[in-house]
Amino acid sequence: MSKYVHLFNEGNSGMKEILGGKGANLAEMTRIGLPVPYGFTISTEACTAYYDAGKMITAEVKAQVLEALDELEEKTGKKLGNPENPLLVSVRSGAVFSMPGMMDTVLNLGMNDETVEGMAKLTNNPRFAYDSYRRFIQMFSNVVLDIDVFFFERLLEETRKAKGYHSDPQMMAEDWMEVIEEYKKIVTKHTRKHFPQDPKEQLFLSINAVFDSWNNQRAIVYRRLNKIPSHLGTAVNIQSMVFGNMGNDSGTGVAFTRDPSTGESILYGEYLINAQGEDVVAGIRTPQPIQTLKDEMPAVYRQFVDTCNRLEQHYEDMQDIEFTVERGKLFILQTRTGKRTAQAAIRIATELVKEGIIDKKTALLRVDPEQLDQLLHRRIDENHERNQLAKGLPASPGAATGKVVFDADEAELLANEGQKVILVRPETTPDDIHGIISAQAVVTSRGGMTSHAAVVARGMGKACICGCEAMKIDLHERKFQVGEVIVKHGDIITIDGGTGEIMLGEIPMIEPELSAEFQLLLSWADEERKIGVRANADNPQDSAKALEFGAGGIGLCRTEHMFMDAARVPIVQKMILAETFDERNAALDELLPMQQGDFEGILEVMQGLPVTIRLLDPPLHEFLPDKEELLVEITKLQILDPKSKELKEKEALLKKVRQLDEFNPMLGHRGCRLGMIHPEIYEMQARAIFYAVANLADEGIEAKPEIMIPLVGHVNELKEMRELVNAAALSIKEETGKQFEYTVGTMIEIPRAALTADQIAEEADFFSFGTNDLTQTTFGYSRDDAEGKFLQTYIDQKVLPENPFAVLDREGVGKLVEIGVELGRKTKPGLKTGICGEHGGEKSSIEFCYKAGLDYVSCSPYRVPLARLAAAQATI
Ligand code: PEP
Ligand code: MG
Repeated sequence: MSKYVHLFNEGNSGMKEILGGKGANLAEMTRIGLPVPYGFTISTEACTAYYDAGKMITAEVKAQVLEALDELEEKTGKKLGNPENPLLVSVRSGAVFSMPGMMDTVLNLGMNDETVEGMAKLTNNPRFAYDSYRRFIQMFSNVVLDIDVFFFERLLEETRKAKGYHSDPQMMAEDWMEVIEEYKKIVTKHTRKHFPQDPKEQLFLSINAVFDSWNNQRAIVYRRLNKIPSHLGTAVNIQSMVFGNMGNDSGTGVAFTRDPSTGESILYGEYLINAQGEDVVAGIRTPQPIQTLKDEMPAVYRQFVDTCNRLEQHYEDMQDIEFTVERGKLFILQTRTGKRTAQAAIRIATELVKEGIIDKKTALLRVDPEQLDQLLHRRIDENHERNQLAKGLPASPGAATGKVVFDADEAELLANEGQKVILVRPETTPDDIHGIISAQAVVTSRGGMTSHAAVVARGMGKACICGCEAMKIDLHERKFQVGEVIVKHGDIITIDGGTGEIMLGEIPMIEPELSAEFQLLLSWADEERKIGVRANADNPQDSAKALEFGAGGIGLCRTEHMFMDAARVPIVQKMILAETFDERNAALDELLPMQQGDFEGILEVMQGLPVTIRLLDPPLHEFLPDKEELLVEITKLQILDPKSKELKEKEALLKKVRQLDEFNPMLGHRGCRLGMIHPEIYEMQARAIFYAVANLADEGIEAKPEIMIPLVGHVNELKEMRELVNAAALSIKEETGKQFEYTVGTMIEIPRAALTADQIAEEADFFSFGTNDLTQTTFGYSRDDAEGKFLQTYIDQKVLPENPFAVLDREGVGKLVEIGVELGRKTKPGLKTGICGEHGGEKSSIEFCYKAGLDYVSCSPYRVPLARLAAAQATI
């Protein structure tokens, strides 16, 4: 017989897969003697069994739950449904990977018309008992019976109004009794049944609901976003209730053992007196900062601080802790590894090493490379005047500009159209998750630093401001007002999540820099990693950025970007349109000094580090005007000015555009095929490189160009192009009298090149895997069309596990890379190999490259720090 139900004193933190994160930690805290209310966990395996049985709790699980319930009753001395001494429990989800707020919870379970009386007597506090009962009806009805909370909220508001009250604490026991009767009527009206009075029925219905919530829409979206597998299922935790709403000596709160925004080592959190947990998380009442608890309940505060320290030492990481104080007694309801910004992750990891709690390797694994992206984005320019409109809580750092929208669906819609939006809400709920994903940033007028919006935005590395109470939001009119200023739907605002400031209009941003802690962590990564990191850069500015971020060279300089400069396009067009050899050479002569200048700039910045320069790659028509636009212009001229010189020129241009037109340009006349047919273009580029090298030699800079031939499919292509480059080098050495070194290699981006890499290596000094094209040609997916047309559906329907243009497909494309490396090195042992497709900046692909034995990865300058860390993680 399988064991599906585990008492808290039977488990430990190593059992996450079975007990879920929350259950495993509750068991662990019980084990180390912390004050945890007693309970048990129904395992994730029971959830799988539930789905396997067609969404039914199996008899075996049911029996085990009842057995555990007996134990719980014995331990607490209370009994479910016993009016003399009722046991009340919470029913909470708890998946293996934390999914905050995504699944369902039921509190105060066990309340009914009889136990509420018992509670009133026992606590000598009828007001509290009836309040708890109405909360239970509302929550149970929403979560289990699927009745919208709106009906209950509306009734509550009407009752308050009728009685002339402003807030809930003014409601008396009798008022709650009236509300309860009305609540029950709402239930009967919606379900055609009475509100269930049998606590065991309540319990099993709630367990069902929690299992079902594993597959609710927001949980599915959250899992997709965080790459959590959908087969895992959730555990369910049944725990005896403690009450933070028993009066002013009670309360509830959430705290992080370090600041989750900055990483600073201070207790960071908030609490509410006389409240239940959901009041804090829902962000409906704005809570007090944890530090004031010191004055309100000094002994509890001290015990709490000690517990926090103990938990952090025990788990060796920053913890996110939920607690409740019931009549002066502290209880810990949950601990988990706290979500944090990238900045905080780095600071916490490096400080834990300094404090001797973890070692450097552990610290390197504590920071998610993808998260670093947050720190490598632009910030608001400090020197620019800030037209501050309002200030809220700085809930998640980062700056963003966008149009104001008030609705999550609309945020998604506009973002899909490519617009930048900022989602503004009174507060967010898990139903807004898709809007938060789509928005550049989130702003709320209510709620604290641990409100839903804050926690979710921080997890996503999105800028967020919470509790901006100066902002009066009118959802109906789609506007908000701060003082006299009205901001309407669609107006542009800028926010700074690091300071909490909201500003009107767009404000200039500046480039990011690496903090001292970030540099330290990366220096540990450099000690650890065994694979080089270079950058893809095609101008001196990007090259300088790459160096600043720690690149060891340039892995790909795409020379076509230099041709696309507005001032150069006419010359490039002249070269393409040339009818004769002389005409073409004249245009190339004009281009040569420009290219030479580009190369000198880059090689100078890189100061002798290797720089891989790729000769021209794209189809030539990319430099010519669009055919349709040209036709329109010609038609206009034919009507307005049929004899003009301009018309003749445009007609000639159209003729050439038509000649160059191809059905499949990405498989057409591009890459080395350009050099084969128009060798003079590659010759000009090679000469420009060598002139640059020769000039820099005068300045004492020993430039190391690696000249790369793109899209080679047959060794003869490379052989011919290599001879061309060698001839250019020789001629420039003779002409300048200078000596210099260079190498000639190729991209491996066509399957045939990988499969014949042994032959190709005869002519190559190095290989660089162009996995963008290699993915395109291996799958036969157009890299420019697939993503918009069918790839997303493939991923949604799990035909493919990932987008292969983002995450390297190890089984297919990866196999070609492995074959290429192996065959290449068979011919030339130690052949230098790298990758320069987009995958070079993606952590799982970097791990693959390390395992495949590549010498380096190359990625965009802004991803270099990420790649350094991912490269280190691959080796640990
Ligand atoms: C590649 O194909 O992977 C590559 C780096 O070249 P490009 O993206 O310029 O085609
Ligand atoms: Mg390519």
